[in-house]
Amino acid sequence: MAALIGVLPGDGIGTEVVDQALRVIDAIVRRGGHAFELRRGLIGGAAIDATGKAFPAATRQLALQADAVLLGAVGGPKWSDPAARERPEQGLLDLRAAMGVYANVRPVRTHPSLYEASPLKADRLRGVDILVIRELTGGIYFGTKQRDADSASDLCSYTRAEIERVLRVAATMARRRRGRVTSVDKANVLETSRLWRSVANELFAREFPELQLEHLLVDAAAMHLLSRPADFDVMVTENMFGDILTDEASMLAGSMGMLPSASLDGQGRGLYEPIHGSAPDIAGQGIANPCGTILSVALLLRHSLGLEAEAARIERAVYEVLDSGLRTRDIATGGVAAVGTAAMGDAIVARLNA
Ligand code: NAD
Repeated sequence: MAALIGVLPGDGIGTEVVDQALRVIDAIVRRGGHAFELRRGLIGGAAIDATGKAFPAATRQLALQADAVLLGAVGGPKWSDPAARERPEQGLLDLRAAMGVYANVRPVRTHPSLYEASPLKADRLRGVDILVIRELTGGIYFGTKQRDADSASDLCSYTRAEIERVLRVAATMARRRRGRVTSVDKANVLETSRLWRSVANELFAREFPELQLEHLLVDAAAMHLLSRPADFDVMVTENMFGDILTDEASMLAGSMGMLPSASLDGQGRGLYEPIHGSAPDIAGQGIANPCGTILSVALLLRHSLGLEAEAARIERAVYEVLDSGLRTRDIATGGVAAVGTAAMGDAIVARLNA
């Protein structure tokens, strides 16, 4: 039976970059040997407009049935009234919760042809290849919230089981890489971090003794990510620290538009999306960088469908096109004329067909 891929373009540039990603999937299908069933759904602002809900029942059903879901981005000024009952971003949180995708995986790799697009110096960027894994469904974002006129609180809590399962994803991936895991916490201050650190020590001693585990406090990690990024292999951390560190790490690669992500449920199903948002400032202009979404398709084929060769072929095609000098506006430096979203897609598809 053909694998079912749910396609949720969402809002703003989400629809533009997903269009290019679908052309890449089509190119893989045309090469033969694979058949996928692609089924579209609504999420975010587009779903609010059509149904009144940011995560409609039909989309939930599609997400639960699908082997993998490809998402563009959600949100935009049209739906950003803080008093609104439905918000696009809540649709995304509900989608992640419904799919039970607790491990967010973001590969951050630098590429010589993009060194100039990064604010860091080239000598810092050489050889950077980090897999950042963020716990996605627990911690302070999901804890009880309280607010009155003069005080507010957000509860941060983690269970041993929640910590163990995300650390296990990190360790399993480190086994196939350079065998080093950096666990990031704030164990000098937070109880949840002290539990996190002791669970990590026990788990690695018991199940992954061959791996090298180091602990870093989150403030130090933020600094080391910029001062010695090439030293890291797999970095794993809780939800809020991961949210912040992954955006910081994205600047190593040159642009938010370059980076893909996978959110995994530990059983092979996953949600795949670029790390950027709906970019209302450039939506509708046809200039968004589709590479992060196209590289998310590669992660989808690798992690949910077991198609490693096809995933690697897409990654190669993207980097060959960048090596050839083609640039969207966000990564164009030194007076290079930028191409639009569709032209970048054309070039990547042409490489795949070559
Ligand atoms: P953003 O990621 O949308 O944009 C930040 C900046 O990066 C903008 O200047 C934008 O033009 C640029 N950018 C982002 N992606 C790009 C691409 N592919 N090519 C070229 N340039 C790109 O973040 P924001 O502006 O803070 O948020 C805009 C909306 O997106 C908000 O409604 C926010 O809630 C939402 N958002 C959604 C997601 C998601 O769907 N996963 C993530 C972050 C933000």
